[in-house]
Amino acid sequence: MKILCVLYDDPKDGMPKDYPLSKLPKINKYPDGQTLPSAKSIDFTPGELLGCVSGELGLRKFLEDGGHEFVVTNSKDGQDCEADKHIIDSDIVISQPFFPYYLTRDKIEKAKKLKLAITAGIGSDHVDLQAAIDNKIDVVEVTYCNSRSVAEHIVMMIVSMVRDYHSQYKIVCDGGWNIADAVQRSYDVEGMHIGTVAAGRIGLDALRKMKPFDVHLHYFDRHKLPDAVEKELNLTFHESVESMVKVCDVITINCPLHPETENLFDAEMIGKMKKGAYIVNTARGKICNREAIADALKSGQLSGYAGDVWFPQPAPNDHVWRTMPHHGMTPHTSGTSLTAQARYAEGVREILECFFDGTPIRDEYLIVKDGDLAGAGAHSYSKGTATGGSDEAAKYKKG
Ligand code: NDP
Repeated sequence: MKILCVLYDDPKDGMPKDYPLSKLPKINKYPDGQTLPSAKSIDFTPGELLGCVSGELGLRKFLEDGGHEFVVTNSKDGQDCEADKHIIDSDIVISQPFFPYYLTRDKIEKAKKLKLAITAGIGSDHVDLQAAIDNKIDVVEVTYCNSRSVAEHIVMMIVSMVRDYHSQYKIVCDGGWNIADAVQRSYDVEGMHIGTVAAGRIGLDALRKMKPFDVHLHYFDRHKLPDAVEKELNLTFHESVESMVKVCDVITINCPLHPETENLFDAEMIGKMKKGAYIVNTARGKICNREAIADALKSGQLSGYAGDVWFPQPAPNDHVWRTMPHHGMTPHTSGTSLTAQARYAEGVREILECFFDGTPIRDEYLIVKDGDLAGAGAHSYSKGTATGGSDEAAKYKKG
């Protein structure tokens, strides 16, 4: 079989010769009891870079020993990209949300042999799910592999944005000491009202992690959490996003991107937020309207916006979120810490082993199966596509 794998660039100075930590902490299972990825074996050292081209998700030996052709590329956007040349006769495509290979309907329809699209991570919105359904291409992701990694990033972003860490760090790097400059936008998080849009694996973990800050916690989701969890965290449930944003100082967005959530935070929704609130979006860039966010930061309707997700990715060099005031953006990194990479690389290997052996892929990994939403996809997504406009990714030029 031919397997196409689209990965992000290697470090500018080449692969690291050593790493800060020699060993990763051991985790036995996820909080809800789900087991960690469990491939029969792995050919990589956990804690090393796996998500870039030379890291190859640690898959080359396994795939070539199995007689498969394995193509790895970072050329994924624009008319002459390598990925488009190979997708035509590939059986399986692997891509990471951090550097997504946008599998639009056009590409899916040209990929006559394609059977399986694997997301090395979580969030398969870079695949036109409706086209995958129509063309009977299965879509799977490594559910839970980096959910808690993202929750950590959310806590980091809420605290650093409310306290205005970025400006203070910059003052030090610039050789300054003006304390008044450093604190004129700096607050404590304690006592604030924090709300999550979606309380799935990430949203709930972010609530749990914020609880010790002595804040008031709110959530909106399509399904209510069990009473015991609401009680444990003293949660306020809201029937609508609008009702929650009216009362919260910080909103964290943790739902998948699908037709129901695309552009959810437009000028109208942001206008309903408490004046001067903050947004942390580590879900998907397209859930927030690009211009509306920048405008709200300029007007003061929002005090800050942070996150690691953009649309498209890589974000064009002139994407307004790179330069808007009071932002705390990172590239799409929260789910690809070295710790998370080890989990999703093993998860991809587990999925491939199942696929080649003809054994079922875990239900919780399924997004689309046999022409319909399935598993985690049936629970969390709606049919349709959110890939429109992804060709803009070709505008990004490496510095
Ligand atoms: P889960 O499937 O555990 O949680 C998703 C939650 O979103 C579910 O509770 C689901 O509700 C809810 N949801 C779906 N649609 C809506 C809607 N219209 N309104 C409100 N809630 C909705 O996934 P995770 O928590 O693990 O991940 C969530 C998303 O975070 C991913 O889909 C991905 O986009 C993003 N992500 C980002 C990463 C990064 O590196 N920045 C890494 C990993 C994920 P219900 O099931 O109750 O219907």
